[in-house]
Amino acid sequence: METKRIYPDTEAKKEQVLNEAAELIRRGEVVAFPTETVYGLGGDALNSSACAKIFEIKGRPADNPLIVHVASVQEAKKLVKNWPWEAEVCARQFWPGPLTLVLPKVDIVPDITSGGLDTVAIRMPSHPLALELIARAGCPIAAPSANISGKPSPTEGEHVWQDFCGKIPLLIDAGKCKVGLESTVLDLSGKIPLILRPGGITWEQLNAVLGKVELDPAVEGNLPVSGSFKPKAPGMKYRHYAPQGEIVLVSGDKEQRIAQIAARLNSKKAGERIALLCFEETIAALKEATPNGDQSLISKADLMFPLGSRNNQAQAASRLFKALRLCDQQKISLILAEVMEEKGIGRAFMNRLKKAAGYKKDKL
Ligand code: AMP
Ligand code: MG
Repeated sequence: METKRIYPDTEAKKEQVLNEAAELIRRGEVVAFPTETVYGLGGDALNSSACAKIFEIKGRPADNPLIVHVASVQEAKKLVKNWPWEAEVCARQFWPGPLTLVLPKVDIVPDITSGGLDTVAIRMPSHPLALELIARAGCPIAAPSANISGKPSPTEGEHVWQDFCGKIPLLIDAGKCKVGLESTVLDLSGKIPLILRPGGITWEQLNAVLGKVELDPAVEGNLPVSGSFKPKAPGMKYRHYAPQGEIVLVSGDKEQRIAQIAARLNSKKAGERIALLCFEETIAALKEATPNGDQSLISKADLMFPLGSRNNQAQAASRLFKALRLCDQQKISLILAEVMEEKGIGRAFMNRLKKAAGYKKDKL
């Protein structure tokens, strides 16, 4: 299949691509489009065969439900049995935006969309192209991240192209996604609101408007190794975001972090390819730590990926997935990744980083 890649950089092209994408979705096809979190692979959420195509193209396990994207609160209400006050407050406060609400579904939402669950996950994205696409398609759009299952989510059109060129009819390439991590998934189907996946809207922000909000134990990786335990968000049991190289988390105070990185670089083995995913301050300190401007230590790193300043957590969050993809492209075998405080967006960043590391403990 030929994949059209259209850059909506003029009004005329935007019009053309939105109409084309909306028409494809109405016909039951699947297209890739930008949202403020990551790129989505979208199809008509109420059409079982369109949703089946999404699962097939991504290689997504059938029990991992899709998030349904809507262009208005009214559209969301049509998909659920009830709309509790918590949903109203969250929608008013955080929609359009990176927050997904899980509520009991009505029958028009096919079982394939909800992965066989009796709840549905709904979000109203804030990216203007995503909102306009949903409105023009005239149906809610089911869209998981537009990556092959198991790869990092795509934060640039180029990442979608790498995974799906030749497999979908159309990619709307609008460059970088602003948030760069997936939405927060908040379950409102139980007694107490429960965060199933941390994301763009933080626990602190949700607590501030809802009072009591809990965090699903699966978020921290506290999953029993075997047995019948099932995380409430089925996707949380899969090892997503996995690069091919081993990830080692670099933590501690500044001196400890520098020493950890230096020790690994100094004991680099033949054939090993090392990447540093570090804050700018750490990179500067590493350079300083090498006497007389001797760059021999730092030059042992095969890839140096700056996450931005330590003081800008949102920027680091938006760069993580790109860094992980780059590590694979450059055949990196060891990734030394600096940790972030698990607060605010740092909780989502660490959740993704730890998942990528397979929840291995700091090995340095
Ligand atoms: P993705 O679309 O790849 O960003 O993943 C969507 C996430 O939302 C996965 O972790 C899903 O398991 C989760 N999710 C979607 N629908 C539901 C639902 N009805 N109940 C609980 N979790 C859900
Ligand atoms: Mg995904």
